[in-house]
Amino acid sequence: MTGKLLKTLWAGIPLLLSTLLMARETAPFDFYVLSLSWSPEYCVIRPEDRQCGRGYGFVLHGLWPQYEKGWPQNCGAEKLSKPLLQQYPALYPSEKLAFHEWSKHGTCSGLAPEAYLQLSQQLKQSFKTPVELDHLIQPLRINARQLSQSIVAANPHLNIEALAFLCTGGGRFLQEIHVCYDKQGVTPISCSSEMQRQSLKSCGQKDFLIRNVR
Ligand code: 5GP
Repeated sequence: MTGKLLKTLWAGIPLLLSTLLMARETAPFDFYVLSLSWSPEYCVIRPEDRQCGRGYGFVLHGLWPQYEKGWPQNCGAEKLSKPLLQQYPALYPSEKLAFHEWSKHGTCSGLAPEAYLQLSQQLKQSFKTPVELDHLIQPLRINARQLSQSIVAANPHLNIEALAFLCTGGGRFLQEIHVCYDKQGVTPISCSSEMQRQSLKSCGQKDFLIRNVR
């Protein structure tokens, strides 16, 4: 590569970075939700799925731009390319889910596919599964407060208000956890009051079960 070409490429980097930051700032949403699905629950009715029987606990459902109330979806036609996704082989439990999540939620982030996958990976990796849930042999009966406390103990960068839960089976089983981040995807923030209300409605009963890992 000639010195002149290298110089031109280097000169372009600040512009590229500021364009990325601007896209992030101007995309019309309020905050991010990192959604982690409890794989044993997903697998109850889909035991043949490739992600099942592999001992998975939390898997990435998606990284979702949110409004204080509701969320944007399907914001653009840009496609996620297979070669790019293949650079993140362990990010999603399935390729199909990754393509769906990019089209529905990622296109609303204002990020290019690569930056969106990178941010998703970074936030997913920053989440540590509490030891009580790691390789869970028996179903665990717990309530939302106890679950929040053990997540915060394993993830001191989070606080209880940054967490929301989704239960299924009329509130009997944990399906997903949601972690709220600011619009930069850097700092955990309190989830919106709408999310907190829904979390209480979904998982706010005396207790619920977290299915064992298989
Ligand atoms: P949403 O459209 O709300 O972002 O995502 C809904 C889709 O995510 C549904 O198709 C649902 O089956 C899928 N989903 C949720 N949890 C999991 C999971 O653990 N694994 C896979 N493969 N898909 C999931």
